[in-house]
Amino acid sequence: MLQRPASHMVVQKFGGTSVADPEAIRRLIEIVRAARTRDGRGPAVVVSAMSGITDALLAMASSAGASQLDEAEARTNQIRERHVAAARELVAAGPALDHLLSEIHEQADELASIIKALAVLREVSPRTLDVVAASGELLSSRLVAAALTSAGVEAQWVDARQAVVTNDEHTRATPLKQETRDKLRANVQPAIDQGRVPVIGGFVGATTAGHTSTLGRGGSDYSGALVGAGLDAAEIQIWTDVDGMLSADPRIIKHPKLVSQLSFEEAAELAYFGAKVLHPSTILPAIERNIPVRILNSWKPTAAGTLITGSVSSARRGLTGLASKRDVTVIDITSTRMLMAYGFLRRVFEVFERYRTAVDMVTTSEVSVSVTVDDIRHLNEIVEALNEFAEVSVERGMSLLCAVGDVLQDEPKIAARVVGVLEEVPLRMISQAASRRNITVVLRQADLPHAMERLHEEFFG
Ligand code: ASP
Ligand code: MG
Repeated sequence: MLQRPASHMVVQKFGGTSVADPEAIRRLIEIVRAARTRDGRGPAVVVSAMSGITDALLAMASSAGASQLDEAEARTNQIRERHVAAARELVAAGPALDHLLSEIHEQADELASIIKALAVLREVSPRTLDVVAASGELLSSRLVAAALTSAGVEAQWVDARQAVVTNDEHTRATPLKQETRDKLRANVQPAIDQGRVPVIGGFVGATTAGHTSTLGRGGSDYSGALVGAGLDAAEIQIWTDVDGMLSADPRIIKHPKLVSQLSFEEAAELAYFGAKVLHPSTILPAIERNIPVRILNSWKPTAAGTLITGSVSSARRGLTGLASKRDVTVIDITSTRMLMAYGFLRRVFEVFERYRTAVDMVTTSEVSVSVTVDDIRHLNEIVEALNEFAEVSVERGMSLLCAVGDVLQDEPKIAARVVGVLEEVPLRMISQAASRRNITVVLRQADLPHAMERLHEEFFG
């Protein structure tokens, strides 16, 4: 049979809710089965820990570190039982189940002995914390691999520590690109070539010295992207429990639309403004190799989801999505004498830097600078410092409303339409940044729902 190029294969990453229990794993099995190429290649599967397990592991490590051994041991047993129960439901009695159960017990026993040691030492180092946290994905990946094989989709468990190589910044390690690529070629590709589905725990890696490491909370998406990039996958699928990305916040807009396609840059802008979308930094390896990423709902496997790609066809005329940020504070800094003098903006921003306060949006006029901030822990000090050389006024209870679309780059009329639609809403600031991919307005929080509704009706209605 003609072998298709490896690039036809996809990588499927399943989040915690998509492996939460035997029912979820049964859905996963059918999704994986449907993704095999006709000549029986792929997919490569990356899984999160079962939902809630990583939180439980971290809580367990801290209670053990505080010498609350009973509580930590109770949690270890719950984790063991949850995996054992799922294994019994998913794998028929026999040698395969016995093997899986002994692996689960081995992993849980190791956890139990680490917990005891932590309670004695009364201290949890980042390196040890990684060993504890990694066990969630090591368990779920073994379970899923065995469940697939038992359901007739021959799978092979791959130890993530033999697949992802990282630096030694434990608890938020950075993968080493070339080393990881080499490991994936050596330890994952052969399974694919032999027609088996490799199953790898996300979030987990090992340092060059061989110590278990993790990529930081939520790191499984990054693992999925790494595996996809390393194996030159045709597509990376992020299976989750939502339909994809929505055109606006469903807590504000009654009937938001599903965004069928957007660019990596648009996703970055929307994520920055708090939209519930995969942040591009979490799938960087995919972006670097220009591999499309698709967000899919494991409850509705035939729905198209949201596709994120390097560029979106210019045939699309409208905006991509709306996002908003609440509880924003506007600070107006006015100085009739000094604004036009050089060095003024530097002095202003030095104050924000001194108090480690990030500025979201900036607009300037002849005599004033307006900025918005999110974090007001040092507001009083900031105002006092600015008062030394400018008049300052502060307005709280504001919101940012941001309209995003690559289309804004080529069609100035769209920006005008955005502002036009909001004509009866008092706008405090308006800005279109250099990327010209978004137009952002600042308005009173009380006006946000109405303004978003108006914009949504105009562009997505
Ligand atoms: N299990 C890890 C976490 O909960 C990684 C992930 O699921 O992405 O953060
Ligand atoms: Mg996640």
